[in-house]
Amino acid sequence: MQITTHDRNTLEIRPNEPLAVEFTSSWHFESGVLLDEIETQEGLADWVDAYRFRLGMSSGEQISIGDEDVDVALRVRAAVRDLLDALVDQTSPPPGSLDLVTKLAGRLDDTTVAWPAAGPHLVWPDDTPTIDKVLSQVCASAVRLLTSPRRELLRRCPAPSCVLFFSALRKTQQWCSPACGNRARVARHSARGR
Ligand SMILES: [Zn+2]
Repeated sequence: MQITTHDRNTLEIRPNEPLAVEFTSSWHFESGVLLDEIETQEGLADWVDAYRFRLGMSSGEQISIGDEDVDVALRVRAAVRDLLDALVDQTSPPPGSLDLVTKLAGRLDDTTVAWPAAGPHLVWPDDTPTIDKVLSQVCASAVRLLTSPRRELLRRCPAPSCVLFFSALRKTQQWCSPACGNRARVARHSARGR
């Protein structure tokens, strides 16, 4: 399955977003309908597969997602969104969300890097569940984003029917995508017409 945002391959249009931002984007509008890519076991497994290299996984690494993993993933995504919301709104996040994200990020300490001919990848202790690997990487990305100058670039897209965070890589960038800019312009125009 291809992971899409505004009807386009997400990995192609947003190759430079931090992994944490990409993970929050798994909940988004598609053709005017709010959808959640990771709310099912299959959907979450597809997301992990699409992002496997950004998650530090090798091409052959097995992905195994259980039913209960979906609940955990949704809880962590909500916590990451809390932190990004707090950053954009310049408020304090719920302490529970910050605790959860920093705790999961700390699990990366258990990894080493293997460097076979095919290129480096992360090695986790045996029997580490896929979901632990995924969420640790997402949370580590969130912690790096929050504590680096990169946070200054973070925005929440103000277009109607959009819930995405994005990085304003150009100073004048107001929207997450050209599609949102167009929709916002149309909405402004019809509001003026009324
Ligand atoms: Zn947008």
